[in-house]
Amino acid sequence: MENFETQAIRLQTPRTDYREHSTPLFVSSSFVFDDAEQARALFADEIEGNIYTRFSNPNNTEFIDKMCALEHTEDGVATASGMSAMFLSIASFLKAGDHLLASRSLFGSTHQIITKILPRWGIAHTYVDMDKPETWEQAIQPNTKMIFAETPSNPALDLIDLEWLGALSKKHGLILNIDNCFCTPYLQTPAKYGADLVTHSATKWIDGQGRVIGGCVLGRKDLISEVRFMARHTGPSLSPFNGWILSKSLETLPVRMERHCSNALALAEWLEKQPQVRYVKYPHLPTHPQFELAKRQMRFGGGIVTFELTGGLEHGRAFLDKLQMLSHTSNLGDTRSIATHPSSTTHAKLTSEERLAVGITDGLIRVSVGLEHIDDIKADIAQAL
Ligand SMILES: *Cc1c(COP(=O)(O)O)cnc(C)c1O
Repeated sequence: MENFETQAIRLQTPRTDYREHSTPLFVSSSFVFDDAEQARALFADEIEGNIYTRFSNPNNTEFIDKMCALEHTEDGVATASGMSAMFLSIASFLKAGDHLLASRSLFGSTHQIITKILPRWGIAHTYVDMDKPETWEQAIQPNTKMIFAETPSNPALDLIDLEWLGALSKKHGLILNIDNCFCTPYLQTPAKYGADLVTHSATKWIDGQGRVIGGCVLGRKDLISEVRFMARHTGPSLSPFNGWILSKSLETLPVRMERHCSNALALAEWLEKQPQVRYVKYPHLPTHPQFELAKRQMRFGGGIVTFELTGGLEHGRAFLDKLQMLSHTSNLGDTRSIATHPSSTTHAKLTSEERLAVGITDGLIRVSVGLEHIDDIKADIAQAL
């Protein structure tokens, strides 16, 4: 039972008296106590068991048990969205007067939490550049509590060396918090390099079919008990239906990720040969500046490919309008391939200097490579180019 594929399938809620094979959906707000003594012991945390679905539910527990096994973490909490996971993972540990160190290239809403929300509560931050690791140690202050990072970054696909970051964080006694959404545990397991918290938007590759919003915070038992306290009393719990979907989705995660990644690599290699494309960025392409690190740290190169069109902004917009099969929508990690133009959409509010600082040039296109036949994906992109 220690192999990834097996754990993703066989870690299952105990069968009920109905002898079902596949885990049923537990749509129940609360759970009945056998007697007054059991109720007392459950509330006193002397025994484990379900009380109320805001605290725990069998479907969410099954999802979390699998995620913990796959990420090599001790414990975890399921959340209603990726953002509630990111927020809980920070708010459970930082208080007024503390300082957070974060990589500059972060998911947009995580950036908003750090830049706009935490300062209201007296929590300071410093953003550091992915490509200047030598500046990270200098940015650590006496009140720094946590390092938050994503690797590879979105959409620039720059990497951070997790082994180096784990050692840095340990040396300074900081909590290392890694958003592992882009890789999933099948490609990369940050806890092995010393990450204390591993956070996910399960909305993306984990669901993998564009159906539900969900997330989780995983990590060391002592830290997760703080996160659980915060989640239980503030209420961002995952719905049992979404927990059931996400646990089912994990059963096929390895086979899906292998195909997403092989389609993405094939697309990246083909794009490099197209005259309308200035450059292609994909972690497992030899032309990626951190190819060696990507090979060491990531089992495969992931499902996202970015490329720069020769004609800049107008060319980027025209390209998207010409696509016939690829979807133009702001999600990623779906069975359906998705194309986006970050400089005119997700990152349009930044100045072009700010965009360039996180690797977003005007003609940059991001493709989340789906599970359609690779020839059909290439054909649609070819006609749009
Ligand atoms: C989508 C995403 C999030 C936010 O997740 P939601 O499920 O949309 O709340 C956080 N981090 C990364 C890297 C993401 O791609």
